[in-house]
Amino acid sequence: MDFSLSAEQRELTDAAAAFARRELNRDLAKREEAGEFPREAWLACARFGIQGLPVPAELGGNGSDPLTTALVMEALGYGCHDNGLLFSLNAQLWSVEAPLVTFGTPAQQQAYLPGLVSGDIIGGHAMTEPGSGSDALHLRTRAERRGDHYLLNGAKQYITNAPVADVLLVYAADPGRPGLSGLSAFLVDAATPGLAVSSGFEKMGLRTSPMGEVALIDCLVPAASRLGPEGAGMAIFNSSMEWERSCLFASACGAMRRQLDTCAKYARSREQFGQPIGKFQAVAGKLADMYVRLEAARLLIYRVAWLKQQGRSAPAEAAAAKLFTSEGWVRSSQDAIQIHGASGYLTDTGIERDLRDAVAGTIYSGTSEIQRVVLARMLGL
Ligand SMILES: Cc1cc2nc3c(=O)[nH]c(=O)nc-3n(C[C@H](O)[C@H](O)[C@H](O)COP(=O)(O)OP(=O)(O)OC[C@H]3O[C@@H](n4cnc5c(N)ncnc54)[C@H](O)[C@@H]3O)c2cc1C
Repeated sequence: MDFSLSAEQRELTDAAAAFARRELNRDLAKREEAGEFPREAWLACARFGIQGLPVPAELGGNGSDPLTTALVMEALGYGCHDNGLLFSLNAQLWSVEAPLVTFGTPAQQQAYLPGLVSGDIIGGHAMTEPGSGSDALHLRTRAERRGDHYLLNGAKQYITNAPVADVLLVYAADPGRPGLSGLSAFLVDAATPGLAVSSGFEKMGLRTSPMGEVALIDCLVPAASRLGPEGAGMAIFNSSMEWERSCLFASACGAMRRQLDTCAKYARSREQFGQPIGKFQAVAGKLADMYVRLEAARLLIYRVAWLKQQGRSAPAEAAAAKLFTSEGWVRSSQDAIQIHGASGYLTDTGIERDLRDAVAGTIYSGTSEIQRVVLARMLGL
C-alpha cells in the first residue's frame, strides 16, 4: 500500500490551499452574519478549476481522479474558512455534476456541464420534502407523463443552492408505479414556469450557503430532461449520496487540519500558571485526540476515493467515512473552543464558526442515525 502523494498532487493541493487563503476568506464575518452567498468567490473557484474537478476533460472539466479531487477539496477546506461556500460547491459537484457525468445524455451534458464548470450556472438537487427526510423514498412529488413531457407537482424543502440555482435535479415519483421503480430524476431549469423557489431559512451555520424551498405546481418539463431511464431515480440518488458521503467530507478534513494547527499554535503561546497551556496534559490530550480523528477520517475518505477510482461501489465505506468524519469534526470543533477558552466562544475570533458549521454534517447526506442503520444492515442486523 502506497500512501505517498505524487509530485503533481502535492503541487495541486499546495496551490489550492494558497488560492483558498488568498481569495476565499474576504469579508467572511460580515458575509456570514448577513447570510450572503459569495458569488465572486464561486467564480474564482471555477477559474481555479474546482467545479471542473470531477468532470472528464472531454466534457470540459479537469478529469481529476476521485483521490486527487478529494485531496484538492481537503486543501480547499484547509485554506478556506468559509465552510458554507465549500458546502455549496460540494453540493453541486456531487449531487448535480457527478450524476450528469454518469447518467446524462450527451445533449444534457452539453447543455449543463460547461456552465456548471465555468461557474456561470449553479446547480442543486431536490429530494427532501416536508413529509420525507430520512425516509426519502416516501416522497410525494409526482411526475405524470404527458406525451413527450412530464407534469411535476410537489414541494421540496431544505434545498441547498436553490435560491441561487439555475438548474435543479428534482426527484419525483410516477403515481402509477409505486415503490422504488417509480422514482425518476429531472433536470429542471429554475426559470421553468410552475417552479418557484423561496428562501426563508435562517440557519445556525453554513450561513453563506443559500437554502430554500422549491414548489412545483403544474411544472411541465420535456421528457428529454429526465436524467437516466424512467425509474432510475433511486440509482441516481444512491450514486450521488455515495459521492457526497465521501468526497464532500474531504473539505471537513481540511477544516479539521486547520483547527489542529490553530489550536496547537495557541496551546504553545497561551500561558497560564506560568507555562504554556499545551504543557497541561488535559490540553495536550485534546490536541492528540484531534490529530487521531483527523488522520482516521482522512484514511476512511481516501479509501472510499480509491475504491471509486477502481470503479467500485462503496456504500458501507462511504457511510463509515461520512459518519466518522462528521461526528469527529463536531467533537474537534468543541475541543477547539475549549482550548481557546472564552476567546474561542467569541464570534469575532472565528473559532466557534466551525462548530456551528460542523453540526449540519451529522444531518445532511443522511443523518448519523441513518448511516448507523446502513452499516448495521451491512452487518446483517
Ligand atoms: C445544511 C443542510 C443542507 C441540506 N441540503 C439538502 C439538499 O440540497 N437537498 C435535499 O434534498 N435535502 C437537503 N437537506 C435535507 C437533509 O437531507 C435532511 O435534513 C435529512 O435527510 C434528514 O431529514 P429530516 O431533516 O426531515 O429529519 P427526519 O428524517 O425527520 O429525522 C429526524 C430525526 O429522526 C431520526 N431518524 C429518522 N429515521 C430514523 C431511523 N430509521 N432510524 C433512526 N433514526 C431515525 C433522524 O436521524 C433524526 O435524528 C439538507 C439538510 C441540511 C441540514
